[in-house]
Amino acid sequence: MAKKKLPKIIEELCIGCGHCVMACPLGVLKIVNKKSKVVKPEACDSEGRCIAACPQKAIPHLEEQEY
Ligand code: SF4
Repeated sequence: MAKKKLPKIIEELCIGCGHCVMACPLGVLKIVNKKSKVVKPEACDSEGRCIAACPQKAIPHLEEQEY
């Protein structure tokens, strides 16, 4: 197990638009069942590009998470 700051995604706010996926050049996020999911946590550089990209504010911040 490793720990790092990863996107905190609020599923109830996410509309699956994919803007966060496009904003991330590292392929950390993917739309799964119409919701954004962290699928490649090991690649995340914790820069938070996804936060600014989300029109729904469904990624309010990064959060220390185990992966
Ligand atoms: S940009 Fe926001 S609303 Fe759109 S898929 Fe990503 S988390 Fe969901």
